Amino acid sequence: MEACLFCKIIAGEIPSKREYEDEQCVAFHDIHPKERVHLLVVPRKHIPTIADITDTDSPLIGHLTYVAKELAAKLNSPGYKLQWNVGKEGGQEVFHIHLHLMGK
Ligand code: 5GP
Ligand code: ZN
Repeated sequence: MEACLFCKIIAGEIPSKREYEDEQCVAFHDIHPKERVHLLVVPRKHIPTIADITDTDSPLIGHLTYVAKELAAKLNSPGYKLQWNVGKEGGQEVFHIHLHLMGK
């Protein structure tokens, strides 16, 4: 997926402010934050949209939610939103799935 922006960020080919990483995902700060805390939690696996996931991806999707919750606590966010934008009509601009963590 050489043309994918988030694959390039995960590979370190494009710089980002990385907050966390493990064997399944990477979390970095959104370049245009909408809240004090605005992270993108991104699986290493390239999946274009949430509409493309299968049941075998369910543990991965759950893991991303867990990581987002841990990061919200680490960054002292008292309340936050977790958001998936799905498809162009759903506001998705980067077609490699990512969970937005947006919080105070
Ligand atoms: P989407 O609209 O696809 O759900 O969200 C894409 C997000 O990626 C946007 O909030 C946008 O600000 C962010 N973004 C786009 N390009 C870059 C980039 O090069 N680096 C980082 N850190 N975030 C980016
Ligand atoms: Zn990708």
